[in-house]
Amino acid sequence: LSDSTLWVNGVFYTPEGIIRNGKMLVAADGTIEAIGGSDLHAAADAHVYDLNGLSVLPGLIDVHIHGGAGCNVMNGTYEDLDAISKFHAMHGTTSLLATTGTAPADKINRALKCAADAMAQGVSGAEIVGVHLEGPFLSMKRRGAQDPEHIRPADLAELEQYLHSANGSMRLATIAPEIEGGMDAVEYLVNQGVTVSIGHSDATLAQVEEAVRLGAKHTTHHFNGMSPLHHREPGVAGAGLTLPQLTVELIADGIHVHPAVAKLMFDIKSAWNVCVITDAVTVAGLPDGDYGEVVLSDGQVVLKENGSLAGSTLTTIQALRNVIAFTGLSLEKVIPSFTLVPARQIGIIDRKGSLEPGKDADFLIVDEHEQLTIHSTHVRGKEVYSRSVK
Ligand SMILES: [Zn+2]
Repeated sequence: LSDSTLWVNGVFYTPEGIIRNGKMLVAADGTIEAIGGSDLHAAADAHVYDLNGLSVLPGLIDVHIHGGAGCNVMNGTYEDLDAISKFHAMHGTTSLLATTGTAPADKINRALKCAADAMAQGVSGAEIVGVHLEGPFLSMKRRGAQDPEHIRPADLAELEQYLHSANGSMRLATIAPEIEGGMDAVEYLVNQGVTVSIGHSDATLAQVEEAVRLGAKHTTHHFNGMSPLHHREPGVAGAGLTLPQLTVELIADGIHVHPAVAKLMFDIKSAWNVCVITDAVTVAGLPDGDYGEVVLSDGQVVLKENGSLAGSTLTTIQALRNVIAFTGLSLEKVIPSFTLVPARQIGIIDRKGSLEPGKDADFLIVDEHEQLTIHSTHVRGKEVYSRSVK
C-alpha cells in the first residue's frame, strides 16, 4: 500500500541545480523520498500529478512575521496565528517564525505561549517553526515603531520567563547589545541555543564585534532601526556589511531599503548571507485605509504619531520578484536567501530549506512565464493553498 505522490514533468530547483523535465516523489509521511530525472521510478500505485512544465521551488521561509490579514501574533489567540499562517501560505511562505513586539511582559508571555501551543497543535497554512522575540530589550533611540513605553533594559530573569513561555520554540531574538544588560542577554540567549540578532540598536562597530564574539550572528531588518553607516563610525549598518559572521535581514519591498542598497547588500554579502524577510504586520493583505494607530497607503504602513515605517505589507513571493528585479540575479541565484539561509540561521536546515531527499516536502508550484504566479503551496506534502480552489 502506498500513499506516495509522484510529481512529474516539472522544473525542480534543487541545491545541486535545476532539474528540467524532472520528477519528485513525496512519501506518505510528507517528506521528499527522491528527486531526479527520467531514471526516477516510483511504486506503481503512487498518485501521479503532471506539472505540465511548471516550476517547483522550495517553500519560502520567513523568520520575521508579525501578522497579516487583520491578525497579529501579539493578540495571543490561535485564530490569529491560524489566519496569519493561511494568509502567508497563499503568498509563498511555508515556514514562519511568529514574531512578537515590544509590550508589557505578561502580554509577551501570553503571545509566546499561544504561539508555542499553536506550533504543537499545527495550523492550516505555513508551518509555525518557532518564535522570534523582537523587543522589549531594544534601543530607545532606534525603536522605529516599537512602543517606547515598554522598551527597557535587558533583564535575564524576564528573558528566562520568555524562554519558558516559548517552551523551547524560541529560535531568534532581536537584542540591542549596547543597552544596559544587553551583552549578558546576548551571552545567555546564545547559551540557550537561541540565534541572536542585533536590531533596533545604536551600537558602535566595537560593540557589535563584542556581541559577535559572544555568538550573535544575525541582524534585524538591516539598515532599519540601527545606527547607520558613517565612514568614521560604521555602526550596526556597517558592521553587518563588513563582518562575515553576520547574516543580514532584508525587507525587500523597495521602501524600507532602496533597491540600489538592496543590490549592494547582495553584492557585498552574497545571497548566502542575506536573509529576506517581510516584517509583515496586521494590515498586510488589507486595502488602503486608516487603521487607528497606523495608516496604510500604496503598500506603506506608517505610524500616525511620528511617521515611522511600521512594518510592511510585503509577501515572500513578491519579495522574491523584487529581489530578482533589484539585483539582476537569477531566480536560482537568489532563492537561497529565502530558503536555505533562513533555515540555517534558525537551526532547521536538517529538515527545511531545500528540495532534497529526507527533508519535509515544503514546496511551491509556480509559473515562471507569469511572474512566478503561485499555483499551489504545499507543506509537508499537503496542499495548503491552491489558486484554483476559492
Ligand atoms: Zn522591527
